[in-house]
Amino acid sequence: MEDTNLYDIVVVGCGAAGSAAVEAARMQAPEASILFVGEEDRPAYKRTKISKAIASGFERTEFSLQEESWYAINNIDTAFGFRVTAVDADAHTLTFVSQPEERIATTVTWRKLVLATGAAPVLPPLPQALRLTSLHSHDIARTEELRSRVTALSEPVVAIVGDGILGVEVGEQLSKLGATVHIIGKGQYPLEPYLNEAAGTEIAAVLVHNGITIHRPVQPLRYSLQDQRDKRPIRIEAGDGSEICRVDTLVFCMGFRPRTEVAVLAGLDTGAAIRVDGQLHTSNPDIYACGDCAEHPAGRVTHLWRDAQRQGEIAGRNAAWAVATMGGTPSSGRLESDQTSEQEYMYQPFRLKCEVFDRYFFSICRPAPAAKQAELTP
Ligand SMILES: Cc1cc2nc3c(=O)[nH]c(=O)nc-3n(C[C@H](O)[C@H](O)[C@H](O)COP(=O)(O)OP(=O)(O)OC[C@H]3O[C@@H](n4cnc5c(N)ncnc54)[C@H](O)[C@@H]3O)c2cc1C
Repeated sequence: MEDTNLYDIVVVGCGAAGSAAVEAARMQAPEASILFVGEEDRPAYKRTKISKAIASGFERTEFSLQEESWYAINNIDTAFGFRVTAVDADAHTLTFVSQPEERIATTVTWRKLVLATGAAPVLPPLPQALRLTSLHSHDIARTEELRSRVTALSEPVVAIVGDGILGVEVGEQLSKLGATVHIIGKGQYPLEPYLNEAAGTEIAAVLVHNGITIHRPVQPLRYSLQDQRDKRPIRIEAGDGSEICRVDTLVFCMGFRPRTEVAVLAGLDTGAAIRVDGQLHTSNPDIYACGDCAEHPAGRVTHLWRDAQRQGEIAGRNAAWAVATMGGTPSSGRLESDQTSEQEYMYQPFRLKCEVFDRYFFSICRPAPAAKQAELTP
């Protein structure tokens, strides 16, 4: 099926940034035509909650940022469960296809495009069989799969590769579900770029006290799938060849890589992420980027919830302002605020909190780009 429609604003990526962009655009330009496309099969949800609620489990809509009906009530077209696979920046068109079967493809025309495509988990090179069975906790679907896998086993043994905040949270949750948990890290202590040594040593002690084994092996790690009839068929080996552990479930929490595929299709300037200016324009003035997929001047990529929301708000408002002031559509000239130009994104003070086994750790340090990079490198 092919369909061609014109939208004032199309927002791609249904996360914190995309959701904030859609809401801000609607508030700013009440008559603009807006389309919201996201590849996950549901409206945006509070992604930060899922790694903290594996043990308790959660309902489908428990962490939703908006009721699905909100979009219809506010005259916003949605395509949840559709991935954008083609963009023509000259013709101002994009195509999105249904997931996972790719049976329906739709092409639309946009006047302003907002990219909020977020980030994807970093995975190491893996044998194909292991790639298919290893898990992460970046989205609800994979997190639910992880929970089901662990609860289906009588004596689950899990390895979590990565001892950043996500590895620690997932480790705590799986341990509460009854799994034997191994966390494999590479620095001196968990959350190393964010905590000082005293706090890092303390959080390690809390994990060990609660039965979690922490390994700091020689890198790089090697993964292999042994006899599948084995109860724990996944073998993890250190760089010196010694065995670290054998497990039935492998979870990667090694950091995130900004998703730039759509930006590359659109011919935008990318580095570590999609390069934007202070007003969140990409190298194409009709396309904005925000959230985890955006690289700000000085090379900063934020990777934090509140920053993604704030950027989404500004990108949505700026796109709506630009559409409303450019003329030629029903929305032209109709602005709900006294904004006289596009707005600048200002950095928020950095802070990170981590609560495990009823202990609360808090960081207000800003990691150096090199330290951040090390965290992302397998
Ligand atoms: C488990 C977890 C816990 C976290 N905990 C915290 C925390 O406690 N505090 C904190 O500050 N931050 C936390 N973070 C980070 C925070 O969640 C992110 O910074 C934030 O979600 C980024 O929002 P975003 O909208 O930019 O991207 P995302 O949330 O990644 O959303 C992007 C969306 O775009 C979709 N998409 C990508 N490409 C396409 C395409 N081609 N077509 C259609 N859709 C596409 C993706 O499927 C995804 O749904 C956590 C992250 C995770 C994964």
